Amino acid sequence: MDLEQFRTHAHELADWMADYLKEVESLPVRSPSIPRAIISRLPVSPPLEGEPFERILSDFQSIILPGMTHWQHPSFFAYFPANSSPPSILAEMLTATLGAQCMSWVTSPAATELEERMMEWLGQMIALPPTFTGVIQDTASTATLCAILTAREHYSFHTINQRGFTDGVTYTAYCSTEAHSSIEKGIKIAGLGKDHLRTIEVDEHYAMRPDILARTIRDDIRNGYRPLIVTAAVGTTGSTAIDPLRPIGEICREHDVWLHVDAAFAGSALVLPEFRWMIDGIELADSFVFNPHKWLLTNFDCSAYFVKNVEALVRTFEILPEYLKTTEGTRVNNYRDWGVQLGRRFRALKLWFVIRSYGVSGLQNTLRSHVRLAQKLAGHIAESGTFELLAPVPLNTICFRYHPAGITDDQALNALNARLLETLNATGKLFLTHTKLSGKFTLRLVIGQTNVQQDHVTRAWDLICETARTLG
Ligand SMILES: *Cc1c(COP(=O)(O)O)cnc(C)c1O
Repeated sequence: MDLEQFRTHAHELADWMADYLKEVESLPVRSPSIPRAIISRLPVSPPLEGEPFERILSDFQSIILPGMTHWQHPSFFAYFPANSSPPSILAEMLTATLGAQCMSWVTSPAATELEERMMEWLGQMIALPPTFTGVIQDTASTATLCAILTAREHYSFHTINQRGFTDGVTYTAYCSTEAHSSIEKGIKIAGLGKDHLRTIEVDEHYAMRPDILARTIRDDIRNGYRPLIVTAAVGTTGSTAIDPLRPIGEICREHDVWLHVDAAFAGSALVLPEFRWMIDGIELADSFVFNPHKWLLTNFDCSAYFVKNVEALVRTFEILPEYLKTTEGTRVNNYRDWGVQLGRRFRALKLWFVIRSYGVSGLQNTLRSHVRLAQKLAGHIAESGTFELLAPVPLNTICFRYHPAGITDDQALNALNARLLETLNATGKLFLTHTKLSGKFTLRLVIGQTNVQQDHVTRAWDLICETARTLG
């Protein structure tokens, strides 16, 4: 493809993209594809000769598109959203065009310095204390792994990186029973052993119980373990439960344990002053992560990781082979030393485009409207008489189930709600997912897609009621 052909196709694609975003509502939200349907249409071997772009694009439309679940459909209420927005997409186009690999300052000074400034902006936007310094990671999973590894090195006086686990100390880690699976994954990767991850019971609102955390840590110390890290959730994945940071932080300070805060989804809500209560006690934390790629109109991937002790982070990850040595010294950041990967995409650019395009108040308006829509729907569910809420709704994630009069058996309700979920999703008109709360099959509806409006929520609720009636 020469540059003139590139220009032509880029214009075609710009039109395609705008049309797609305009018409995405007419597509089934969840792909109706059955297993192996897509792969069976792909040649088993690569083409020897190059093919014309027209044919590639045509196959994209006929083979790939029907196999996509449309995350940017406004009736996507599943999982947590993966927000996108026009300015973010445009910035991604520029990032791809520049094609820079931003591992160190010298490999693109602007990428490094823009990232530093964007992390400062984000920190101010969510009112983190200025003692925190940010860096972009690919995902919250990686940020949490960084926190675990940094805690491991910090508290082993940087001996485990050097000598392996030879100090005879057994480290323990803590999170609630509702915490995200990325914590267990990180604990396993860090070599701490899944058996040493203590899952702390939650209260009736699915938030970690600090009294049980304190008791568990004390028991572990008495039994010769070294408590290493507590991960508190601000917004659990199941029901956006908020672990109480202040009492948890006080326990961590008392026993000199690392406190990591996982606010992957709910962290974006801190842009709204009325939700800052969620991080009361944040000054007691050592690290904090949230994902602008979930609910801050920024395309995947973009996870904002904040730490108090940059030196501990960099000391955990830095490696300096001869071919990476540079002369700028400490005046610049070399983000390759701030995480797992060496190579890095230029991700700060889309944040810059998003924050400048919407302004803080534009982002606040969008988030507030999502929360308002969710609170209103939660009210309807609570008053319906045939549905019930299964967890508090502090933000925009609604956990509920169909519970018609006369059915009291949880097994029967679980089966009924599983059937309801599948019937709803098979319509292609909306997409929600489920979780289990206290053993109950729970429908989970998250109102956070960039373009979701009252109309989409109304139609979703009507469809849910109507479908439930026909099943019941
Ligand atoms: C989504 C989520 C994660 C994982 O996020 P990734 O960026 O996909 O790794 C971690 N913790 C919580 C609470 C989440 O909701």
